[in-house]
Amino acid sequence: MSGPGPLGVLGGTFDPVHAGHLALAREARQQLELECVILMPAGAPWQRQAEASAQDRLAMVRLAAATEPGLAVDDREIRRAGPTYTIDTVRELRAEWGDERPLWVILGADAFLHLHTWHRWQELLAQTHLAVFCRPGAPLEAEAIPLPLRPACEARRCAPAAAKGAAGSIAFCRMPMLDVSATGIRAALRSGRPAADLLPRPVLDYIETHQLYR
Ligand code: ATP
Repeated sequence: MSGPGPLGVLGGTFDPVHAGHLALAREARQQLELECVILMPAGAPWQRQAEASAQDRLAMVRLAAATEPGLAVDDREIRRAGPTYTIDTVRELRAEWGDERPLWVILGADAFLHLHTWHRWQELLAQTHLAVFCRPGAPLEAEAIPLPLRPACEARRCAPAAAKGAAGSIAFCRMPMLDVSATGIRAALRSGRPAADLLPRPVLDYIETHQLYR
C-alpha cells in the first residue's frame, strides 16, 4: 500500500473497557486491514451518564490497550471541554492527518442504530468510512435500520475491501459473538458475581484497587 495506512477509531464510554471492545478492535483491524485502531474514550458522553470518572475510564483503556498489538489510545475527547461529539474529533483528526488518509469509524450495530441522533451525523459520513459490526443481541435486519439512515446505507454500502478513497463508505461486517457489555459487567461486579473472563486482568485489578462499580 502506498501512503499512510488506514486508521480506525473506536469510540465509546468504556465504563469499563471489556473483552467485547477488544474483540471488536481486533476484528476491525484484521478485516479492514488497518494500520492501527485508536481507542477514544468519550469525555462527557452527551447521550448518557458514565459511572466511573473520565480519568478512571481512560486509565482502564490504557491498561487494556497495553496488552494488545495494533491498538493506541487517544485522550483528546477527555481533554476537550463540553459534550463529546464524534464529528469534532473527526474534524481534528482530519486537520492533523489531511483529507487523503482512509479513516474508519468503528461501531457496534447497536450504536449504529442511533447514528441519526448524533450531532452532524451526515458530515461524519462524508468525512469517514463507517464499519458496522454485528454483535450479540443486535442482529442488523434491513428493516431494523432507522428510516433516516436508509438512503445513506443504500448509497454508501460496500464490502470492506471495496471501500474507495478516504471516506464515504459504510461496510457491514460480522464478528464472532461475544456476549459481554459494560452494563452487564457493572451489574456483575455490584452483585459479587465473577467478571474475570469478561475483561483484561489489569483492568479488573484497577477496578478492585479503586473500588469502582460498588
Ligand atoms: P453499555 O453496556 O454501558 O451500554 P457497552 O458495553 O455497549 O456499554 P460502549 O462503551 O458503549 O460499551 O461501546 C463502545 C462501542 O463498542 C460501541 O460501538 C458498541 O457497539 C461496541 N461494543 C460494546 N460491546 C460490544 C461487544 N460485546 N461486541 C462488539 N462490540 C461491542
